[in-house]
Amino acid sequence: MPETATSEEILTKYEPVIGLEVHVQLGTKTKIFCSCPVEFGAAPNTNVCPVCLGLPGALPVLSRQAVELAISAGIALHCRINPFSRFARKNYFYPDLPKGYQISQYDQPLAEHGYLDIVLPSGEKKRIGVTRVHMEDDAGKSLHDGFKDSDRYTYVDLNRSGTPLIEIVSEPDMRSPDEAYAYLTEIKQVMQYIGVSDCDMEKGQLRCDANVSVRLRGAQKFGTKAEVKNLNSFRFLKMALEYEIERQVELIESGGKVVQETRLYNVDLGKTIGMRSKEHAHDYRYFPEPDLVPLRVSEHWLHEVENKLPELPADRRDRFVREYGVREYDAQVLTLTRETGDYFEVAAKASGDGRATANWVVGDLVGLLKAAGKTIAESPVRAEHIGELVALINKGELSGKLAKEILPKMFESGEAPSVIAEREGLKQISDTGALEKIVDEVIAANPKQVEQYRGGKTAVLGFLVGQVMKASRGQANPAAVNEALKKKLG
Ligand code: ADP
Ligand code: ZN
Ligand code: MG
Repeated sequence: MPETATSEEILTKYEPVIGLEVHVQLGTKTKIFCSCPVEFGAAPNTNVCPVCLGLPGALPVLSRQAVELAISAGIALHCRINPFSRFARKNYFYPDLPKGYQISQYDQPLAEHGYLDIVLPSGEKKRIGVTRVHMEDDAGKSLHDGFKDSDRYTYVDLNRSGTPLIEIVSEPDMRSPDEAYAYLTEIKQVMQYIGVSDCDMEKGQLRCDANVSVRLRGAQKFGTKAEVKNLNSFRFLKMALEYEIERQVELIESGGKVVQETRLYNVDLGKTIGMRSKEHAHDYRYFPEPDLVPLRVSEHWLHEVENKLPELPADRRDRFVREYGVREYDAQVLTLTRETGDYFEVAAKASGDGRATANWVVGDLVGLLKAAGKTIAESPVRAEHIGELVALINKGELSGKLAKEILPKMFESGEAPSVIAEREGLKQISDTGALEKIVDEVIAANPKQVEQYRGGKTAVLGFLVGQVMKASRGQANPAAVNEALKKKLG
């Protein structure tokens, strides 16, 4: 990229168009076509057999669990699950691919015509089309460094060979790096939610290639795209897209043309680098896999898988808003993981006030958890106790201020709020007798303000309420104080 960074003005003349190809490793115990274990970090070439080594004559047998997870993913992405799909050989040579071909799906994928709704940073929602979801096996790994003769040799570890994957291909529906980021985030969340994959990017369980083009704003036709590979973190996805968009705009602005090619994101340089000209489907000589029968998914099987699926995060989000009156933003945070949503529901049921409960969970509790480096599943505060805390506030037994003092104590000891309040005498004073006594004292101690109030300057009431609250060490019920003061002052 030249030194003169492209001006905002020129950049905004163009609109980026992005489509993602996302690989998700299915969380099976064994590989897709053999019974070797799928295990990250095992000693190289220990989890292998004739099938996943691609030895001649070895025959693949499709894993039922892998298919069920792939179907689950397809359903969650609102795809049509094809009753009949087929595996195909995608032929290419690479040292980590001993078979000489990948077993994938080509013209008849398992699932098609879906979508995924994403939430943008602005809170706005957008629907991204999912073209297809197909199953395939993973290749092994080439190890380019880490050995003392790595300067001369590359080693091959075939443990990963035959690991089940799905590839999720999106429509070119995204219009900014932020949208691509939100889409990948949503994919990860959904896949984790429904138990298809842990999507640990560091273990390669979630991988993403980005197709990018730019066009003049308002133009109908798409520009020529480049495919950017090697985006193994969310941050890199965004950075690579930002770079690539600027590169293409600059190229076009200076009279050049974008060529269709595969580019690699170089993290150290912060640039995408041309790797090879675009390969085409015919280069792979796709043909139906002769060693596997077509995959049939009966209505019965489909329903069985469907019935096992939990509520999807987007649906749960909407339900939290509808059923508990939770704010959109809170609902979003509460459904980030399944555990958070489960926790909230237990707490909300206990309190009978979903909106306030959401506030406490998303605000104070999440804050305490973050500071302690704990997940909600490890929360020392039980969901029922958060519910109880909210209920105590609503019943007027605790003020919000007292509750805020009690929560950290709950976090420390795991005790119920009522137990802590009782022991430490932190009860809100709503009892009229006790309250009146304090009110009388405050009235007696502030004759000037009382006179002002009686003379029509009603704004001083706030001051007097404050005095009563102070005298009660924050334990008086503000609403009750207000009422008692007004009554006494006539
Ligand atoms: P290819 O023939 O290169 O495989 P596909 O049409 O199958 O291209 O699309 C592959 C991916 O590229 C999809 O995710 C799709 O959304 C995306 N894509 C297609 N055309 C464009 C474009 N002009 N700009 C950006 N992304 C695109
Ligand atoms: Zn094997
Ligand atoms: Mg394609």
